[in-house]
Amino acid sequence: MTKLKINDLHVAYGGVNALRGVSLYIEEGEMVALIGSNGAGKSTLLNALSNVVKRKSGEIAFEGRDTRGMSPYAVARQGLLHVPEGRQILSDMSVFENLQVGLIARGKRKAMYTLDHVYELFPVLEERRDQIAGTLSGGQQQMLAIGRALMGGPHLLLLDEPSLGLSPLITDQVFDALKKLNAEGLTVLLVEQNAHRALAATSRAYVLDRGTISFEGKSAEIAGNKAVIDSYLGA
Ligand code: ATP
Repeated sequence: MTKLKINDLHVAYGGVNALRGVSLYIEEGEMVALIGSNGAGKSTLLNALSNVVKRKSGEIAFEGRDTRGMSPYAVARQGLLHVPEGRQILSDMSVFENLQVGLIARGKRKAMYTLDHVYELFPVLEERRDQIAGTLSGGQQQMLAIGRALMGGPHLLLLDEPSLGLSPLITDQVFDALKKLNAEGLTVLLVEQNAHRALAATSRAYVLDRGTISFEGKSAEIAGNKAVIDSYLGA
């Protein structure tokens, strides 16, 4: 089944055309990367998918249903869950309370991930369940943000720069968790500036360049395509 289909999506901030005719698709069970340089429009695309920013034109079909006009909350309730850049955890609440907040998006849908699943995936969250989230390290906060989204029962997980600001070791832990989730069947769209890591973790990828898809294909092929890497992604 096609989980997500975007057709000719345009998004503008006033006079700035951030997305100029983006089309892409994600099949159920895929982990797909969206890579591209600073300002290419990656976050804008995720924000348009969760209806945090309004599209100018184009279609976004999530599980066959156009999300136009839905509130961001309604989109999340459908199972399209976004872990935003900067994580946006609730800093004054405990780890456990943040995870409970994640349940709101699930509504009456089936629990695909329980608290036990999340604690198994990220044992540090169980160890620190009563700790105030704002006092966690950056890596722990990223794990919490992913855990919170899992509690919401994602059918599609959008991740915006999960490796940002994390050490290589912690990034490995986060990516290992994502690979495990995907192997269990979760569909993931991964936005990363760290192209090499994103390509290594995914099966297919899209390269976004100034608001348009400049290249798409198998991740392994893109990783081996020096011209693409040099032109769009830096060495
Ligand atoms: P980064 O990795 O730096 O977050 P990105 O690929 O995610 O980059 P976006 O943040 O989506 O890119 O930005 C795409 C373009 O839209 C940029 O030119 C940016 O300056 C512009 N832009 C993003 N958000 C806004 C906003 N709220 N108002 C005006 N322009 C914006």
